[in-house]
Formats: sequence, C-alpha cells, structure tokens
Amino acid sequence: MAEDRLVCRECHRVVEPNVETCPSCGSSSLTEDWAGYVYIAHPENSQIADEMEVDEEGAYALKVR
Ligand SMILES: [Zn+2]
Repeated sequence: MAEDRLVCRECHRVVEPNVETCPSCGSSSLTEDWAGYVYIAHPENSQIADEMEVDEEGAYALKVR
C-alpha cells in the first residue's frame, strides 16, 4: 500500500519516496521503518489526531522507529 514511502521522525507525516525533507515540518529526518498508515481528513474532529498532536490534514504513520 504505502511501503515505499518515507515517514518523518519528527511529526510522523507520510511523505513521497523522492522527497528529502518533510513538507510539513521541514525535518530531513525521514525513515522507511514505520508502521500503521492512517489518513487524517478532519484533525479537529479526530481523536487519533488529538492523541498524535496532529493539526493538519494528511497521511501519517502510527508507529515510527
Ligand atoms: Zn515532519
């Protein structure tokens, strides 16, 4: 599904494989070692978003190692 994508270690945002810095927070700390793809469409109404401290719509990883 999303196995080739990278995830930002700082904000858990899922980014495209050819990206070198996170478009959300600007971090270059990206990893392939992640699990649990989740798409948050309405962060203001999402309990997951609240727990992950996410306030922007997008794709995120539940676990980043
Ligand atoms: Zn980030």
